[in-house]
Amino acid sequence: MAVGLIGGSGLEEFLESSVYRSLDTPYGPVKYIDSEVSGVRVIFIPRHGPGHEHPPHRVNYRGNIYAFRLLGVDKVIATSAVGGIDESLHPGMMVIVDQFIDFTKRFITFYDRHVVHVDVSRPYCPAINRILYRVGRGLGVRVRLGGIYVCTEGPRFETPAEINMFRLMGATVVGMTNVPEVVLAREAGLHYSLISIVTNYAAGMQERVSAEEVVQVMEGAAEGVRKIIESALPEVESGDWADDCIAFRDEFDRLILGGVG
Ligand SMILES: [Zn+2]
Repeated sequence: MAVGLIGGSGLEEFLESSVYRSLDTPYGPVKYIDSEVSGVRVIFIPRHGPGHEHPPHRVNYRGNIYAFRLLGVDKVIATSAVGGIDESLHPGMMVIVDQFIDFTKRFITFYDRHVVHVDVSRPYCPAINRILYRVGRGLGVRVRLGGIYVCTEGPRFETPAEINMFRLMGATVVGMTNVPEVVLAREAGLHYSLISIVTNYAAGMQERVSAEEVVQVMEGAAEGVRKIIESALPEVESGDWADDCIAFRDEFDRLILGGVG
């Protein structure tokens, strides 16, 4: 089996290959790199496309996760830029989240024509979360285990009033892409974890949020993220966990991969 990596630019730099291939899925074509890192076969998918051409509300969420399953992936490590809501978080820090709150307006599921309700009591893989955290700490990276990711629709940033509401709810970080990605991973029976990288203080906590600033901090943090993934990959790949993550794998194989899509 291969480990899937999904994230933004900078992540692909440690791959041995930089050749993009295209895979046709029932949800449209998906560009990916089939390569190796630390002796482990990895499938890298740039969430927004190789040229960052798909904004958060137009990401091919189903295509990306479907492609992972089609290419033999059973575990996924995702990375994503987020705004810090928890006041003790600072740009450059990482949070391995364990819960989400969905404020998107996206009604995206694989089970559009089937009545399947997946359980998301533990939406992120507890086993991969622990590995990433332990490895990160060992490398001296400023990383935290556990936190609540609030997903907004985007592409605009949030208002200070919204951020204040999220803070009152106990949210840790805010971003625009993790829902439905994490949910689709569960629907497809994948072990999925997210390294969220704090690129800025959320709106109202700093003067204003600019996209340039996000890119700058992301580039600075990319090396730490790559180091964590490089060190964690062999252990992640060899993991064999019968946890909640894979509860719907057979359902997905039967109804989606083997069905109409
Ligand atoms: Zn798992």
